[in-house]
Amino acid sequence: MVKFSQSSRRQFLITAGVSALGVTLKGCLGNPPTRDTKSTNQATPLASLDPAQAPETKTVQLGYLPIVEAAPLIVAQEKGFFAKYGMTEAKLAKQANWGAARDNLEIGSAGGGIDGGQWQMPMPYLISEGKITKGNVKIPMYILCQLNTQGNGIAIASKHAGKGLGLKVDSTKSLFAGLKSEGTKFKAAYTYPQVNQDFWIRYWLAAGGIDPDADVELLTVPAAQTVANMKTGTMDAFSTGDPWSSRIVKDQIGFLSALTAEIWKAHPEEYLAIRGDWVDKNPKATKALLKAVMEAQQWCDNFDNRPELAKILSGRGYFNVPASVLIDPFMGKYDTGDGRTIDDKTMAALYWKDSKGSVSYPYKSHDLWFLTESVRWGFLPPDTLTNAKTMIDKVNREDIWKEAAKELGIPAADIPTSTSRGVEEFFDGIKFDPENPMAYLQSLKIKKAKV
Ligand code: CA
Repeated sequence: MVKFSQSSRRQFLITAGVSALGVTLKGCLGNPPTRDTKSTNQATPLASLDPAQAPETKTVQLGYLPIVEAAPLIVAQEKGFFAKYGMTEAKLAKQANWGAARDNLEIGSAGGGIDGGQWQMPMPYLISEGKITKGNVKIPMYILCQLNTQGNGIAIASKHAGKGLGLKVDSTKSLFAGLKSEGTKFKAAYTYPQVNQDFWIRYWLAAGGIDPDADVELLTVPAAQTVANMKTGTMDAFSTGDPWSSRIVKDQIGFLSALTAEIWKAHPEEYLAIRGDWVDKNPKATKALLKAVMEAQQWCDNFDNRPELAKILSGRGYFNVPASVLIDPFMGKYDTGDGRTIDDKTMAALYWKDSKGSVSYPYKSHDLWFLTESVRWGFLPPDTLTNAKTMIDKVNREDIWKEAAKELGIPAADIPTSTSRGVEEFFDGIKFDPENPMAYLQSLKIKKAKV
């Protein structure tokens, strides 16, 4: 059973046509597990802080999920970057799942929840618009930076090895049709509906002519549980961030059909977003947090640091997995488990710079893609595109990112001058021009939106 405490939330999911039966996505209300972080504080001491930039508060509660997207937050804590910029009481709180993160954000830190943290997209929009909150209450959120690009993948159960399920699935229609006719549709999972992981798996299937709504059963399962389900043979595929997707290869229960870096090189992934009321009340503290995260992102992108990064993340208080599971993907080394090997650092999770420029800067054109993709699959109504600019200008605070970057002394060449990254291209040749999202929707063969 789906256990949502609020009928409105259930209604939202049903309206959106999401199949989440057999799945528990119950938010953990109350105190999240907060890690008491005695940071190693290897950063420059607080004394160097410009008094004019001193934060209004030293405290913030940030949620994260144990996947590689969280690395900049964890590194900012463990390497003492939060403290360096005056956020000496910043706390990270591991979230049980994405529904719990949303519930804790609704509560806020005053009620034992969180002020913000790591989000899949477009969750900050869905929360700001009251689409996934209790009673559809609108809780304004601000997107402050992108945490990472790449580092995600689509994992397939071993029983489907050798059936043509690679990056391109054009030759596998009979496999999906066969399973459907036997009443055992191909089951694919993501960690939360209508956000990144759902979009990656849908894009990948639809590009090969498989209709994710008609030919597949899509459902929400927390990553750890999906691995268990794949072992027992009840799950055919899932999409999530490392280390889970690469872990199934290590554990020999599946293979990687596609890395998200192959579907869309340098694609937008997960973001740091915080409640608008917290940011409005604490503008200097917000920039202090951003500076700490930007410094952490630069540290994470130095490949000489990646063995240490894998070690930090593997800790019991964080991912609680062997560092050996993390290090290969972090170095761009993927054994996909079906005979392909990748050894290319540009394919790894990246945090500061990628082949298109800045990773950290939150491009408004990427927010528009997530909203457009939401329209494509019927998650949001078509008039979303008419109002998209207004919505994006409210939620995306690239202006704060730029102020923080300047205060941090980031070279002008590394500060984007446009809120659009321009035309994006996917592995199947489809193009998304942020100036004309409707043309993108019209170019797609498989979609729910009638455009
Ligand atoms: Ca992800």
